[in-house]
Amino acid sequence: MSESKVYFVGAGPGDPGLITVKGAIYLEMADCVIYDGLANPALLDHCRPDAETISVAKRSGHHSFKQDQINALVVEKAKQYKTVVRLKGGDPCLFGRAAEEIKTCLEAGLEFEIVPGITAGVAAAEYAGIFLTDRDHTSAVCFVTGHEAEGKDHTDLDWDNLAGFNGSLVIYMGMGNLAMIARTLIDKGKAADTPVAVVHQATRPQQKVVKAALSDIDGVCKTQDIGAPSIVVIGPAAAGINGADWFSERPLFGKKIIITRDAAGNESFADALSLQSAEPVRFNTIELVSLADMPPVQKALQQLGDYDWIIFTSANGVRHTFDALEDMTLDARVFADTKIACIGIQTATELAVYGLNADFVPATFTSTALAQGLVEMNETAGKSILLLRSAIAPDELPKALTAGGATVEDVSVYTVDQRTAAAEEVTKLIGMIKDSQVDWITFTSSSTVDSFFAQIDIEAVKASSVKIASIGPFTTKQLANYGMKPDVEASPHTVNGLIDAMATG
Ligand code: SAH
Repeated sequence: MSESKVYFVGAGPGDPGLITVKGAIYLEMADCVIYDGLANPALLDHCRPDAETISVAKRSGHHSFKQDQINALVVEKAKQYKTVVRLKGGDPCLFGRAAEEIKTCLEAGLEFEIVPGITAGVAAAEYAGIFLTDRDHTSAVCFVTGHEAEGKDHTDLDWDNLAGFNGSLVIYMGMGNLAMIARTLIDKGKAADTPVAVVHQATRPQQKVVKAALSDIDGVCKTQDIGAPSIVVIGPAAAGINGADWFSERPLFGKKIIITRDAAGNESFADALSLQSAEPVRFNTIELVSLADMPPVQKALQQLGDYDWIIFTSANGVRHTFDALEDMTLDARVFADTKIACIGIQTATELAVYGLNADFVPATFTSTALAQGLVEMNETAGKSILLLRSAIAPDELPKALTAGGATVEDVSVYTVDQRTAAAEEVTKLIGMIKDSQVDWITFTSSSTVDSFFAQIDIEAVKASSVKIASIGPFTTKQLANYGMKPDVEASPHTVNGLIDAMATG
């Protein structure tokens, strides 16, 4: 046996949250990932940046992979690398041709392991409020392929039996043959009014559910242009339970939302939106640049004990401060003799990551409320306060603290640069806005507003139906400078507040 190992990992049905813990661990370990068209490429975010990732989508760009080419590729890559993940949509072995790939691995003397996945048939039903089994009327489930092996001269499917089956028939790859499948089942005795549900792009923001009687389902799908990939559920369970369609009834389901933060900020924002079944469109407008090695930062961090209060106004400020401390081989103990104030809960949560609790977080997450709070607590007059924040932060906070009698040191631990997107990225985004393919544009700081409108034609935005969401008053004020008024403003002024505001606005 060689030392290499091939992991056949189920990617789940599409929602990137529906991979197993073990599957995610193997993706993190992988030297090479060979993935199918139905596996969500977002799962590759689990991989190391140096991992080789190869798409073997049956129709990927100009390439069309045949199964024996894939088999050979798996073996070739296992010879090249120690850990190869073969990432397959849904469950790897259910209509996944894993058996053929595993046979090739065995022949090549390769070790392998199988990590089951959530299969599309089960997930599609559950994301459409359909219960494949039901104590009252459905006691069995049957997974069926609607597309048998090409070139096979006979059918292995026993249509008489399938027509008589009184449980839930769950048909994969059935869209091309749906008319034939429905006709055959009816011919063989299944009632023409048997409920059928077709779930297209299940578990994704693009999910569509079509329900009709068996005799009508093909026509209805054709009218609504529903093709592959879809799961067809036939049987009493397909009618679903009224009000159980939890996924597509969520307020942000399917909404396309442009997010304009820095790369890392957009990553966590996108994850939060995906959890709400929305479709994030990333447009990174800014880049955060660390100033950790600048003398003012190093000096301030060496003398933290001289200050009565340290103020953080963003999670990024916290992160960059701790990066600087790490560079200086210092740690959280430098904060032992000072009090810490945070502008809001997100900043305080980031601080907690480093084991520190904020002494003060104002009820409203603004710099004005922060300053007011300290003044009211009698913590400004004669006090020495250090701000560790971004170089482009507005001067309201230091002004208000100084007015309250404090000596303020304003130290920049990072700065914000505009990021200029590639021309194609800009053209694509403007096209989406003009075609009203986008529901929301979100802004989380004044700098994101400036950078966005430096690149995106503001008239196109004004002329479109796209709505604007602002995180708080500063960002709203900056939008006003461009003659724009947001449709919603978050409260609290956090990313989660922004998501809630869009959900209700
Ligand atoms: N191994 C996969 C199935 C692969 S066969 C699994 O366990 O899910 C491919 C078929 O799966 C598609 O033709 C379609 O019928 C179904 N399918 C896969 N992902 C789907 C999705 N997100 N929504 C609806 N059907 C899906």
